[in-house]
Amino acid sequence: MVSMRMASIHESTTMKISAMAKKLAAGGQDIIDMGVGEPDFDTPKYIVEAGCNSIRKGETRYAPTVGIPELRRIIADKLVRENSLHVAADDVVVTPGAKMAVFAAIQALLQEGDECLLIGPSWVSYEPCVSFAGASVSWGKVDENFMPVDLAESISARTRLIIVNSPSNPTGSVFDRKTLEEIRDLAVDHNLSVISDEIYEKIIYDHEHISIGSMPGMEERTVTINGFSKSYAMTGWRLGYLAGPKETMKWVTRLLSHSVSQATTFVQRAGVAAMQGPQDEVAMMAAEFRARRDMLVSGLRNLGIPCSMPGGAFYVFPDVSSVGGGDAFTDRLLKEALIAATPGSAFGPDGANYVRLSYATSQSRICQALERIKKILS
Ligand code: PMP
Ligand code: GLU
Repeated sequence: MVSMRMASIHESTTMKISAMAKKLAAGGQDIIDMGVGEPDFDTPKYIVEAGCNSIRKGETRYAPTVGIPELRRIIADKLVRENSLHVAADDVVVTPGAKMAVFAAIQALLQEGDECLLIGPSWVSYEPCVSFAGASVSWGKVDENFMPVDLAESISARTRLIIVNSPSNPTGSVFDRKTLEEIRDLAVDHNLSVISDEIYEKIIYDHEHISIGSMPGMEERTVTINGFSKSYAMTGWRLGYLAGPKETMKWVTRLLSHSVSQATTFVQRAGVAAMQGPQDEVAMMAAEFRARRDMLVSGLRNLGIPCSMPGGAFYVFPDVSSVGGGDAFTDRLLKEALIAATPGSAFGPDGANYVRLSYATSQSRICQALERIKKILS
């Protein structure tokens, strides 16, 4: 027996591939894991220390559902200073991972029969969260650089929400101001809410990160989501947050109070340290990701595989239609080259010709991966 609601969602492909790659590696296979999007760096020491000190101090009890006051204040200050959002600490809710923020915001904003616009290949968890709310997805078109085109065509009388994810997982595309203004105009004209998932904000190359929530007309309709997993290499700590209109935050809080209760108390202390500490490791990681991106994109292009240049995040999304298509090529990569990757189809119907390779792995492993791909193609 399973509820209809549960039956509407499938397992996360990225999590499934991650588990499979780890199992194969544990079994002694020399797997190059380019499947999951997880920084390969250790969490910076000063953050680890702050978490450990907090445990030692006995901060091991429940905290408020919305998060500890100090972290909420620091997050609000950051959103005002860096993202030009008009938010106060009371508008911020801390969550165990940005994934919970995405889930809760979608449940708060959508109901049975509603539609949510996703723009081109989109992160694996958005659609299941939308389905779980009883709503459905309409897929907006993108061009060859994964920039939105003719989005108005994908809006219907049932559309209630647009999800913006720039820099994007899986394509790495970064939306410029003009593109975001077009999305803003659609949201305002059709009275839609917007979720802006900005988790890759700090992993961006030669582009400006713009928060759509800072644009005129957007304050009252935008929920901005971010987290610590990518910027601070803190995936396993589970720490994220969202900020948005008071009414939405009220329902999000209610949902959290009956499910996860709160983000772990001492992890929130680590979050305070992360945001208040020196940010040079964040910049160092981003610089290393850029070098890997350059190496991987040029390597793939040299092998004759078309690949757009990502402006952010740590994924490339090459077009593998000439070598069997996304599903078949992902299969070959694993079986013949021992490279774990994610098929583009996991990111929606427009992803079928692509494969997502995460470059959150060392340059020497990327080099090896390119050698292996060359071998199976020749
Ligand atoms: N949004 C996007 C686009 C992501 O790639 C991820 C990565 N898991 C998340 C949200 C959630 O991140 P986390 O739950 O680890 O904070
Ligand atoms: N966001 C990462 C990815 O897409 C981590 C796994 C997940 O949360 O889906 O691979």
